[in-house]
Amino acid sequence: MISDLIVNIAVLTSFTFFWHQALKNNRLTLNSRTKIKILDGIIGGVLGIILMHYSIQVNEITILDLRHIPVILVAYFGGFLPAIVSAAIISIGRFFIDVNFSSVVSLFMMFTMAIGAGIIVRYVKVKGIKKWTLLLLYSQFVFTLALYIVVDAFSQVLNIAFFHIVSSLIGGFLTLYFVNYIRRYTELYNQYKDRSQRDPLTGLFNVRSFDYYYNLMLEKAQSAKEDCAVCIIDIDYFKKVNDKYGHPAGDEVLKQLALLLKKLMRDGDIVARNGGEEFSVLLDRCNLQQAEEVACRIRIAVERHSFILPSKEKINITVSIGVASYNGGEVDPVRLYQDADDALYKAKHEGRNNVCVKGDS
Ligand code: GH3
Ligand code: MG
Ligand code: MG
Repeated sequence: MISDLIVNIAVLTSFTFFWHQALKNNRLTLNSRTKIKILDGIIGGVLGIILMHYSIQVNEITILDLRHIPVILVAYFGGFLPAIVSAAIISIGRFFIDVNFSSVVSLFMMFTMAIGAGIIVRYVKVKGIKKWTLLLLYSQFVFTLALYIVVDAFSQVLNIAFFHIVSSLIGGFLTLYFVNYIRRYTELYNQYKDRSQRDPLTGLFNVRSFDYYYNLMLEKAQSAKEDCAVCIIDIDYFKKVNDKYGHPAGDEVLKQLALLLKKLMRDGDIVARNGGEEFSVLLDRCNLQQAEEVACRIRIAVERHSFILPSKEKINITVSIGVASYNGGEVDPVRLYQDADDALYKAKHEGRNNVCVKGDS
């Protein structure tokens, strides 16, 4: 029987791992969409059916296993709906094993568990491990009651019933520990990944991501023989904004400029904050003339935009932009960026609030 317990727990945890991997971007919560709740309910049901195939035979018609754990698991995270879906699937699966008094009792047992678990999750104001303990005890109570109904001499199966209770509790707590563990670590992984790619102030890509996408764009352009361009955008006299209104006001301007730039670009264009008050835009499949038009559009939009400071005061700023493009041939990533930077320097030099392209003289 110990080996049954180990097999059941191994099935529960390994299945849960693949379940999590498959749906890690659509995690089941009480606020998940109905589609996700039904999908998780179905997967929970399939897990229940698999667990039934590793059951202990109590008598000719009765089997004991951990099929109730997936039902309370989906109830714990997603509430009533996924629990009902899982219960329905497990009940159907039970009828495929055999149709007898025990499988009919199993049907009522599964629905009693799902409805009760849904009510516990919805109305009992406990959280975390306490909520899980309550769900485990409730489902175990229903399971033991069903066993009592289907066996004639309950006293003769007391040892099996006791073993089942112990297995459920051990399996149940280990499953929750495992699920919480992989959920927490996936969340942290996503957070760190995001932080390593994005600038925390504006949410735009940071210079590391810029570098990655810049090289990617050039490689793509070279192999597909397409044009591409880069614009470097620098706020004019930004130091004065900080000096006059304070650093937090300067930060607010940077955030609002980031939003404006994102709004002005097409989906798929990369907008990055390269540091300080310098931004850059990568333009896929764009020649020098088109890139210059984009840069002029940005310059005018910024000039016309009112930036609202934390004090509610409105100010206007301008930007200077340097543009360079790649149009076939050998590519030198350093040279292209340097060209855009030289054009920016020229735009500043010529009086700011200005766009210059590579090759201007
Ligand atoms: P120019 O037109 O020549 O670009 O003048 P500028 O004042 O914009 O350029 P300068 O390089 O002299 O100053 C850049 C300023 O940007 C100085 C710095 O205080 C400010 N700055 C850089 N990063 C941040 C930031 O994260 N927040 C705020 N508020 N200010 C920043
Ligand atoms: Mg500046
Ligand atoms: Mg600068």
